[in-house]
Amino acid sequence: MSKVLVIGAGGVGTVVVHKLAQNTEVFTEIMLASRTKSKCDVVAEDVKKRYGVEIKTAKVDADNVPELVALFKEFQPKLVINVALPYQDLTIMDACLEAGCNYLDTANYEPLDEAKFEYSWQWAYQDKFKEAGLTAILGCGFDPGQTGVYTAYAAKHYFDEIHYLDIVDCNAGDHHHAFATNFNPEINIREITQKGRFYENGQWIETGSLEIHQPINYPEIGPKESYLLYHEELESLVKNFPTIKRARFWMTFGQEYLTHLRVIQNIGMARIDEIDYNGQKIVPIQFLKAVLPNPQDLGENYDGWTSIGCRIRGIKDGKERTYYVYNNCSHKAAYEETGMQGVSYTTGVPAMTGAYMFLTGKWSGAGVFNVEEFDPDPFMEKVAASGLPWHEIIDGDLEL
Ligand code: NDP
Repeated sequence: MSKVLVIGAGGVGTVVVHKLAQNTEVFTEIMLASRTKSKCDVVAEDVKKRYGVEIKTAKVDADNVPELVALFKEFQPKLVINVALPYQDLTIMDACLEAGCNYLDTANYEPLDEAKFEYSWQWAYQDKFKEAGLTAILGCGFDPGQTGVYTAYAAKHYFDEIHYLDIVDCNAGDHHHAFATNFNPEINIREITQKGRFYENGQWIETGSLEIHQPINYPEIGPKESYLLYHEELESLVKNFPTIKRARFWMTFGQEYLTHLRVIQNIGMARIDEIDYNGQKIVPIQFLKAVLPNPQDLGENYDGWTSIGCRIRGIKDGKERTYYVYNNCSHKAAYEETGMQGVSYTTGVPAMTGAYMFLTGKWSGAGVFNVEEFDPDPFMEKVAASGLPWHEIIDGDLEL
């Protein structure tokens, strides 16, 4: 008997619940709770229709620890899957400690008033989770998440030492909107408009926002202009694989997307501070989110593929070797299965898989963990069987 509680009924939360409902031999009771209960009910109805599985739903404000604790104590989940927003990570971790629940998320904590990506706030919970005998699994989406598991898999099976790691994230899909983001627009735009950063020889090197770019070839897709940006898993991966000399993250953007982004920034709509509008306080980026297409509604006409993977160079038995491990995911297939597009799908499937690893005892331990600290093998097997098959190219040209 494993009860699991999902918080957040957005694109990712919807996929997670679909995937949990496909694995009821492990997830015997499922609850979806979010700020807006009606969104949870829509997901529950769809899941009931597709798989005949009953999902409980509830309203919860995840910024409010006592409210969370009351819900956790009432439902008594063994694991809480946090797919609300990164702002809620710490309140949900606090509530887990108070109610005796384990924790899993897909994005590191961010303070609302500062777009800052680092694990320090959540790593600071290490002793508390250890003392409570509870597990917190951080960053178990695709990137972060699957990319950390890919790196751990490469380190376990293909390398004595990993030296160079490039995570490459391509969305070659078309949603047929002039501008839309693939996950929460506020979180997405905060991330992309940051300064770039990568790790080299023990130091973090800062670049201008999207300053460094080059075309990269993606399998079955072809060349796409790819931009270096900072991504949170770089921080944990260079800590957990100290032989890494350089670690970078690349993401593709189309010219149309970048032009819109530039205009949004230039006219002040990406601002995250409060402004006064006719006597009312508004945060421009939150207002922008309200007028942009909802990422949850992009799926229907989305065609094309995502392609995300790790390109690694290092040493095995004294010889240099390269290794590229990746998944290609079809937006259309994701939509047909779950009603959501590929970016929500590629995040939700690893989140379910991490939950599956924990509840079947394949990943265990008291404390706070990043996914690459666990055994990658059972995860790789389960994630492939759950809709994200992976492919590998050994000793190919990494282009990077
Ligand atoms: P959405 O904006 O679509 O969904 C977020 C959900 O959380 C909404 O249902 C929202 O409620 C709910 N929520 C927000 N604030 C609260 C609150 N205070 N209390 C309760 N519920 C709340 O986001 P996505 O589904 O696109 O993304 C979810 C998470 O996944 C984010 O943290 C994102 O960063 C992460 N992510 C991770 C990726 C990875 O690969 N690791 C990739 C993509 C996303 P309401 O409906 O009322 O607004």
